[in-house]
Amino acid sequence: MKRLSIGLRLTLWYLAIFLLAEFIFGAGMWLILRQNLFDIADLALEGQAADLERFLEARKDAPIAQLRVEISEDYKIERSEDYVQISDASGNSIYRSRFLEEHPLPQVSPDELDRPLYESRKLGHDRFRLLSKQMDVSGRVYVVRIGHPMHEELETLDDFRRYLLWFAPLLLLAASAGGYWLSRRALAPVDALTRTARTISGHNLSSRLEQLHTGDELQRLSDTLNEMLTRIESAFLRITEFTADASHELRSPIALIHTEAELALRRSRDEAEYREALRHILVEANRTAKLVEELLALARADSGREALDIHPIDLLPLFRESASKWNQVASLRSLQFEEHLEADPLPVMGDENALRRVVDILLDNALKYTPAPGKVTLRARHERDRIVVTIEDTGIGIAPEEQARIFERFYRVDKARSRELGGSGLGLAIAQWIVHLHKGSIVVKSELGKGSIFEVEIPATTPSPKMIQPRSNSELHSA
Ligand code: ADP
Repeated sequence: MKRLSIGLRLTLWYLAIFLLAEFIFGAGMWLILRQNLFDIADLALEGQAADLERFLEARKDAPIAQLRVEISEDYKIERSEDYVQISDASGNSIYRSRFLEEHPLPQVSPDELDRPLYESRKLGHDRFRLLSKQMDVSGRVYVVRIGHPMHEELETLDDFRRYLLWFAPLLLLAASAGGYWLSRRALAPVDALTRTARTISGHNLSSRLEQLHTGDELQRLSDTLNEMLTRIESAFLRITEFTADASHELRSPIALIHTEAELALRRSRDEAEYREALRHILVEANRTAKLVEELLALARADSGREALDIHPIDLLPLFRESASKWNQVASLRSLQFEEHLEADPLPVMGDENALRRVVDILLDNALKYTPAPGKVTLRARHERDRIVVTIEDTGIGIAPEEQARIFERFYRVDKARSRELGGSGLGLAIAQWIVHLHKGSIVVKSELGKGSIFEVEIPATTPSPKMIQPRSNSELHSA
């Protein structure tokens, strides 16, 4: 079943509550009015009773027979409209007004009359308020019963009820119209947001929802959605750029392989020429394989699927191993290589393969961008709660405006040079991603023409006896 709109549901709730409030208010007012009218009637009855008491007081010495005559004559004439009945203590009637003659009252027992008794009663066709009271007038006890016709009061009550019954639905109608209008007005921005949100797709991610200035939940909602759109847009942009860059990067080696093979096949060549062509093709194929592998690593990193295997490790053996490997490469390139590693363990929570990759990327860069006879230095130390690794070179350096950009994917200061050296522009992006996953930081300090220092900081842990020693490369290969 289709759910009602929020506006309609709010209106219905509002109406239900309003109806209940109206009912409670109406019933309450009616009861209060009724009580007040009855109190006024009771007050009138009390006045009449006091009047009668004074009358009887004035004739306290008259014998009952005379009293009966006097009341019948004086009292009856004065108050011909009254509803009065007087009897003596034993219930013998002294006086009874005409109406009560025709509509006799039920007897009351004297026990009920130790206090004045007020009651509502129907006599004939009319409703009455009735006061029954015992009066002790100078030793003579009378039972007096006085009635007060209630038709006026009841009419007033009826009128009031009629007004309520007339006005309540009108008020309800007005309230529902007002409530619906209010809810529509309050929710109109939501409709507007929905309409705009519907038009946003991958092609126009730069559009934003209308900015509200209501200062309420709706403004917060539109602001939050707009912030979310900004995040989605930048992620989307990054992915599109990444895809475009990746395709571009992949095109060059494939084109080279293609050209090389085509040229080799154009005419018959001697073995040495074929070998040379195949060597070029192999170099490009290796470069492509490396690029694809890096692209895959970043794609997995983006999708969050490349989970690291983090456990307590000691970085010292890992650094020693890398140092010996890169030392050999350095000497092949006529570069000087120095390592300054502490003798104590460098304990961290980390993924050894990923961290080895970071050191390899940084040392590879340092050697790549340092012309002979330069120097590359690897340092690692335990500094309070952090392990600090620095890789310093005396190479070409990086201009200040380039320093922040080199961590971007595919960013290369000198594209041709980097390509020539086998770089893809993804190394530092991968290194930064790995360091961030280790809750660490990576920064560069560099001066153009003088060299660069890359500094990696990773939170240290206390060394544990269970600490797993990183496996050596030979172990890795044999694994
Ligand atoms: P690449 O594969 O091109 O080396 P990286 O992401 O590792 O890609 O580095 C990005 C760019 O940063 C490099 O192209 C290079 O211009 C610059 N760079 C990195 N390391 C150094 C360094 N040690 N000295 C000078 N420039 C460097």
